[in-house]
This record gives sequence, C-alpha cells and structure tokens, in this order.
Amino acid sequence: MAQWAAGLRAADSTLALVPTMGFFHEGHLALMRRGRELADKVVVSLFVNPIQFGPGEDLDRYPRDFERDRRLAESVGVSALFSPEPVAMYPPGFQTSVAVSGLGAGLCGASRPGHFNGVTTVVAKLFNIVRPDWAIFGEKDFQQLAVIRRMVLDLDWPVKIVGHPIVREADGLAMSSRNVYLRPDEREAALGLRRAILKARELLAAGWTDAAALGAELERFLLSLHGAQIDYVRLVDALTLQEQTKIDGRTRLMLAVRIGGRVRLIDNGALTSSSTEAAWLPS
Ligand code: AMP
Repeated sequence: MAQWAAGLRAADSTLALVPTMGFFHEGHLALMRRGRELADKVVVSLFVNPIQFGPGEDLDRYPRDFERDRRLAESVGVSALFSPEPVAMYPPGFQTSVAVSGLGAGLCGASRPGHFNGVTTVVAKLFNIVRPDWAIFGEKDFQQLAVIRRMVLDLDWPVKIVGHPIVREADGLAMSSRNVYLRPDEREAALGLRRAILKARELLAAGWTDAAALGAELERFLLSLHGAQIDYVRLVDALTLQEQTKIDGRTRLMLAVRIGGRVRLIDNGALTSSSTEAAWLPS
C-alpha cells in the first residue's frame, strides 16, 4: 500500500483516504464520491480494527462482505481498497498508542473506554502508510471527527480532514453497518434518535434555550420508545464537546441509545443551521 501510494505521489497524483470498517452503505459511498471530487485517486481502507472494540463488544459478529464491498467501491471509482490483516497492523511487539485526551474522554469515550485510542492509533498508522492529501470522515461519528481533527492539528499532520454530513435512510435512520442488527420491530425505536433531533429543533424554535430542561425533555421522549435504553443525551459545544447550559449557534445534540439491550446506536445533529467546520481550519 505504501509503495503504491508513493508511486502515485511521485507521478504528482493527489490522494484521498476514506477509512472504514466495511459493510458499505450509501454513507460510506458518499464519502468515497467526495474523495473522487477532491483528489485524483481515492484509497479506501477496510479494516475492522480490533483495538477499538472493548471486551464484550461486537468485534466477532461485526458484519463483513468483502466481495460486495469491493464491487461497491469499484462502482464509485475507488482506486484501491486496503484491507490488511490485523497481524500486519499489530505485529507481535506492537506497543504504541496515540491518545487525544480531552475530546476523546466523554460521550462515547466514557461508555467505551479505550475506543478512541484505538481509533486514533489506527488512523495515525493509515495516515503514515497512505500519506493522503485528504482524509474524509462522516459526521455520523461526530466525536471521532473532532478527535481526529485535534490529532491532526496537534501532531502537525499534512493532511486535510474533510467532514461529510450524515447520510440517512428514507425514513430518517442514520445509515450504519450496525443497522442490520435491528429486528423489524426495533426499527420504530431506532427512528426515535432522529425524531429526538427534530424535536429538539422544534422546542428550540418554540423558545426553549435551557439545555438541562431540553435534555430532560428529550430523555423523557427517548425513554418512551419501546425497548430503548439511554446511554447519553447531551447538548454540547460542537468544537469543545463540553456540555452547555444555554443553547447557542454551536450546540450539537449528541445521542447514544441501546435498542433491545443489544444494538447501540448513535446519532447527532446541529440545533441551528450555523456550521462550525471553518473553526477547525488552522489559522
Ligand atoms: P465505519 O465503517 O462505520 O467505521 O465508518 C467509516 C466512515 O464512514 C466513518 O468516517 C463514518 O463516520 C462514516 N459514516 C458511517 N455512516 C455514515 C453515515 N450514515 N453518514 C455519513 N458518514 C457515515
């Protein structure tokens, strides 16, 4: 992979990298298409990264279909699919970890200890192997995107991070490889995440500005869904991911809900139309 990418760079081709864990859906394909717009060549990594899964999580049952993924990637003009074996990424003796301490600590980092260190470590390796000009990540994993932006700024990585809006099913459910775990009767509860975001916008439009009151109302709504358990409901500043007391133009609603005791789903959304993307650009 490294040699192939170096060959392209020597021929003055630009490269975009889309890191994934495979089992592609339209969300992944949208990131790949964005890569095609930005760069001459798109590399997609397909690696179910063992070190970002905790004990008892779904590493062993994570959905996989390499042949289908290969066809889909090809159909949107991806030049290379990089799918290393775990032992090639983490050979015996491997002992280094990249950690973004602040942004990775709360939200999913609190529910999934070690998760973001696994993510930043593998993404650091991928950046060094591929050395892309751009790397594209989905806002579906909003905290992950923030953690990676921070890592790249802090470590002076010469790669431009591009965030892509959440791609949803026609009914509003955020696309996710894990949606295949949902039974048909659990779909209704899963849709509650999107509905909670829309509800938050409605309440804000109706004059609610107190984050604690709004959060409590959204929790009540989510708890009313059959089979839903709340992991977190947080109104945070989109840049710092710190909890807010008053809603403002930077508020992001962050949700993690467990459905039927088994399927952990995340979703998020801005509560106003202002964008925080520009604030991440180096000055
Ligand atoms: P994953 O394979 O789930 O690790 O996701 C790979 C990349 O695709 C990550 O940057 C995700 O944020 C992004 N992604 C996953 N689902 C979506 C979606 N529904 N919309 C936009 N991006 C997504």
